[in-house]
Amino acid sequence: MVLLGACSTPSAPGGADFQPGAPGAGDPYFPTYGNGGYNVAGYDLNLRYDPGTKALRGTATITAAATQDLSRFDLDLAHLAASKVTVDGAVATSAAQGNELVITPTAGIRKNRTFTAVIDYGGTPTQLANKSLGDGGWLSTADGAIALGQPESASTWFPVNDHPSDKATFKLAMTVPDGLTVLSIGVPGPKTSTGGWTTWRWTESSPLASYLSTVIIGKYRMSTTTHDGKPMITAVPDSLPADGPAAKSLARTGEIADFLATQFGPYPFDAYGGIVVNDDRIRYALETQSRPTYSQSFFADDPDSVVIAHELAHQWFGDSVALDRWQDIWLNEGFATYAEWLWQEHAGTDTMKAIFDRTYHGFDWSQTPGNPGVEHLFGDAVYSRGGMTVYALRETIGDAAFARLLTTWTSTYRDGNADTAELIKMAEQVSGKNLGTFFQDWLYGKTAPPRP
Ligand SMILES: [Zn+2]
Repeated sequence: MVLLGACSTPSAPGGADFQPGAPGAGDPYFPTYGNGGYNVAGYDLNLRYDPGTKALRGTATITAAATQDLSRFDLDLAHLAASKVTVDGAVATSAAQGNELVITPTAGIRKNRTFTAVIDYGGTPTQLANKSLGDGGWLSTADGAIALGQPESASTWFPVNDHPSDKATFKLAMTVPDGLTVLSIGVPGPKTSTGGWTTWRWTESSPLASYLSTVIIGKYRMSTTTHDGKPMITAVPDSLPADGPAAKSLARTGEIADFLATQFGPYPFDAYGGIVVNDDRIRYALETQSRPTYSQSFFADDPDSVVIAHELAHQWFGDSVALDRWQDIWLNEGFATYAEWLWQEHAGTDTMKAIFDRTYHGFDWSQTPGNPGVEHLFGDAVYSRGGMTVYALRETIGDAAFARLLTTWTSTYRDGNADTAELIKMAEQVSGKNLGTFFQDWLYGKTAPPRP
């Protein structure tokens, strides 16, 4: 990263030593993701997208607090340009450096001070260049767009501290031509139309990791109901039948969320739902917060409730309790895989023990879930061995301690972040057992761990 030079370290009374925020959050797997020097509290986006020209433009208002005496700071923003930036109302200097927007306020920002950055920006959003983990980022479609992807996607459509360790609330007003639908996360707000354009509004008031945001624009059949007193929004593309397997699967969202709540504790968000997308580039489902997004390929022939159980389980494991660092991805996927098995047992189609036995038999133990490496972030060890780890833990500490662990975990770290060491510590506390060897074998061992 090239330093800007002379103007970067304003002096201030009181001996403050203003320094630039780091250009990355320091994640060993993805050192350039996110940034240092501040924590975002909320994103408020007011955007307009024209599918005819594929141009996105608008304003991002970001409320944040400095975590150091800050002379300048970065936001992640890929392929889009800022035209004007203010910090606390004063025009700031900004410069694009690769996928970073470097902002230098006229005066340094004191540690712990809250500040507001307003960024006018726009351009033609595109995908991220790195597709090793699947298509991610902004995908333009025939009638709109889909912004989706893990481990990063948000920086392709708004300036963001793009790392899950900095969770923030999210508010979106998106203006599109009349006749198109704008889907996103959280609770829907009022819809207004003027001059052939309609503004859709969505608010997610529980803080989220940035990759759990989404916006989906196009021709969709949206259904709005309530579940347990909260909005339930589901949507399938017009290109799919209104009562086909995709719609039938989404219709089970409330029932499955209620079942998971009996295991994991109260549902953590203000809204429910699910969105199906029909686009060959998206061959995955993602646990976008309060409203997962599913590729229609899961429902090509028949309804699939197991994938719904997986993504809904993430609302507790991954969304409400989010990662501190990407290495701990098994905390998300292991528990979501365990939830798939739990749901199959509940539905009477299989048993947990039979699934465990089949998965354990002949498994390739050379890959580990505890430190899978970037290239195996979404590998079988993270999912299947992660799920087996959770089941083996339950068998080792017993059902009562395991049930206490699940609800204590989801309430203690609700709306926050956690890591593997914190899970091990809590499992030892609730069970009164020393579990060091157990977790070493299951998360990091290269040979078959002892069966529970
Ligand atoms: Zn998952």
